[in-house]
Amino acid sequence: MSKLLEGKTALILGVANKWSLAYAIAQAFRREGADLILTYQGERQEQSVKQLAADLSVTRVVPCDVSQDAEVDRLAEMLRSEGDPIDAIVHSIAFANREDLSRPFVQTSREGYLLAQNVSSYSLVAVSRAIAPLMSKGGSILTLSYLGAVRVLPNYNVMGVAKAALESAVRYLAYDLGPSNIRVNAISAGPVKTASARGIADFNTILNHVAARSPLRRNTDPAEVADAAVFLASDLGRGVTGNVLYVDSGFQIMGL
Ligand code: NAP
Repeated sequence: MSKLLEGKTALILGVANKWSLAYAIAQAFRREGADLILTYQGERQEQSVKQLAADLSVTRVVPCDVSQDAEVDRLAEMLRSEGDPIDAIVHSIAFANREDLSRPFVQTSREGYLLAQNVSSYSLVAVSRAIAPLMSKGGSILTLSYLGAVRVLPNYNVMGVAKAALESAVRYLAYDLGPSNIRVNAISAGPVKTASARGIADFNTILNHVAARSPLRRNTDPAEVADAAVFLASDLGRGVTGNVLYVDSGFQIMGL
């Protein structure tokens, strides 16, 4: 059987370590034959991300802090100079101040609110605007969301509001980029223990609740998120845009 992403080039933003959802997606994309370009935020992560890239036989690893327009533009310029069209973007990035993920939401500062929106939501718009012109054959843009966008999860707070904006941005971007045959979707993943998730107070309570109450009675495996990402990036997903696909053991359907 031919591989689902053979001949495609994907830009993946948000690999920090081997627990990152972006790393699971990178592994699945490689398995399906995609060429990859990985980004990392800053010098602190450079060596570890380069090592993970080497494990996947990926040689293109570039810095990009998505809160800096100049860095997003530099990434686009570098990709343009290489001349390869980009077929898929995976935006797997979020950040909020730790104190905003533990105290009551009503205490969120203006600065903390804007920081979460900037890194976790606006960055999808910035990256899409910069890279879409390189998606000359059309393609797929994917971001990662969470149930906290549409329901209240204690302590998710400002990140839930950022994810709500992110999911709305997915719909507006899908409308704008549809005529270029670029599809824009989100995967709303069930909770997974990653570095980012550790910043959310009482995260284990959420994990235990999902494992006990979701229809599949277990937590989400990052490989399940990654396989859904393959579907959306591949031609199998060609009719799907503006969607939020839940890969969460079915937890989002539950009322109790
Ligand atoms: P992760 O491994 O910590 O990934 C988050 C990534 O965002 C890291 O690579 C981090 O880089 C990067 N990042 C933060 N600020 C950045 C910036 N200014 N510029 C560039 N990169 C930046 O955690 P994860 O759980 O895999 O998160 C990936 C995505 O999945 C996030 O959008 C998250 O909200 C979403 N998600 C996670 C879960 C879950 O339960 N884990 C569930 C649903 C959705 P540094 O490490 O260098 O800061």
